[in-house]
Amino acid sequence: MLVDNYKKVISDITSAARKVGRNPDNVKLIAVTKTVGAVEVQHAITLGIKDFGENRVQDAAEKVEQFPTVNWHFIGHLQSNKVKNVLPVYSLIHSLDRLSLADALQSRAESLDQDVNVFVQVNVSGELSKFGLPPAKLPAFLMKLYSYNRIKVSGLMTMAPFVDDPEDARPYFRYLRQLKDKHSKPGMELPELSMGMTNDFMIAVEEGATMVRIGSALFG
Ligand SMILES: *Cc1c(COP(=O)(O)O)cnc(C)c1O
Repeated sequence: MLVDNYKKVISDITSAARKVGRNPDNVKLIAVTKTVGAVEVQHAITLGIKDFGENRVQDAAEKVEQFPTVNWHFIGHLQSNKVKNVLPVYSLIHSLDRLSLADALQSRAESLDQDVNVFVQVNVSGELSKFGLPPAKLPAFLMKLYSYNRIKVSGLMTMAPFVDDPEDARPYFRYLRQLKDKHSKPGMELPELSMGMTNDFMIAVEEGATMVRIGSALFG
């Protein structure tokens, strides 16, 4: 049942935050609805969930259109030619990982005359199967983003490797937080950390996640 799953996720987020002296209100739950339909989204909305994540433009289009008043987060790999379908319907893009995509986002934002909020996705594990910028390239990339006046960088996003024991994901989350601390500067603060999924979100919250992206723990 979604309602029970939701209560459990909220209580897990709360206890993980309290464990390290954080305010649980500073952790936003993003319900990842990529595996479910509009009925489940509606149900989640009635439970009070306001933020939803999708990772495929086409598959999500109908759902996203049906619920224009909630916040939609784009969390998947984004092809530049799909940017026109993502803006303005998504309020936050979690997966900026290359300048060609920044170019596409900037020009779409210009034509809409609005800003675009993004996370820079970092590949902290170095796994070849994962998207994201290598950590060594982050400082130069952030510097370049300064010149994109319509792109507002909210922070950093990562996906930890899939591990059996979530404790093993901790170093990757910690590393992302260290990168955020190191590269935040006046005019380019990086207040947010988008990290943690069903398998590892409690560890991510302990390590400073401000947004957790959760699918299966909610929807099965
Ligand atoms: C699917 C997905 C999630 C949610 O994964 P669960 O393990 O089902 O919680 C989070 N982030 C991204 C980028 C995803 O693609």
